Amino acid sequence: MEWCNDNGRKYWEYVNECEDSSIWDYLKEVWETMKQAVERGINTEGRLPGPLNLARKAPTYYVKASGYKQSLQSRGLVYAYALAVSEENASGGTIVTAPTCGACGVMPAVLYHSWKAHDMSETRVLHALATGGLIGNIVKQNASISGADVGCQGEVGVACAMASAAACQMFGGSASQIEYAAEMGLEHHLGMTCDPICGLVQIPCIERNAFAATRALDANLYAAFSDGMHRVTFDRVVQVMKQTGHDIPSLYKETSAGGLAKSFSNIIKTKL
Ligand code: SF4
Repeated sequence: MEWCNDNGRKYWEYVNECEDSSIWDYLKEVWETMKQAVERGINTEGRLPGPLNLARKAPTYYVKASGYKQSLQSRGLVYAYALAVSEENASGGTIVTAPTCGACGVMPAVLYHSWKAHDMSETRVLHALATGGLIGNIVKQNASISGADVGCQGEVGVACAMASAAACQMFGGSASQIEYAAEMGLEHHLGMTCDPICGLVQIPCIERNAFAATRALDANLYAAFSDGMHRVTFDRVVQVMKQTGHDIPSLYKETSAGGLAKSFSNIIKTKL
């Protein structure tokens, strides 16, 4: 942020300085893959693999949302896009780990919705993607993006921080507003446990991606209303997330031995 402020530059320009020129072709490929996952997901009906017998929801959310007036439609479409990609992941489809498979629906939903509803250029999307990627890398470097290590705050929480920053970049936020959006995206997921039922990345993961995508858009809006000033910095919340993650018992870190997974294990055994 200091570099951006001192040089009058954006986060994506920092990425551009640090990477070689192939980064933009790579991000194009990432964006294409995200787009395809959204479009496949909203057009594929059926059941997800595994004993939970969950039906795919994205196509229904998409169709229903399309029939509403603008503000409800907008929210419903974001849900649909996030569900689409997370359901693709649950079915073994090709997705982008952003930052992980379990949290793969958040970034595409926010980028796809902003691109489509606001007629954004591809360049704008790529700059947003670079900004979100930078945020994800900061967490990966200084804390963790692994549910097994720090719980779901490190997966869906980080995806939300990345998407919050990406949305804020897309809609013209300043360096401090973008940092604030990312900070809120992570702060309000602090302590979130990882307790997937049957060890499958389905419940609570899929729905959680949809909520985090709308929360990222809220973080962008909240930051846009502010002047970017705030007490808790993104770097600090990353440290808190790491410490909180290490304080969380292993029951709640991808072992499926506690929480939702434990409470549903007997019901599932009876069904099987
Ligand atoms: S609950 Fe666990 S498996 Fe599911 S998305 Fe979160 S971290 Fe990943």
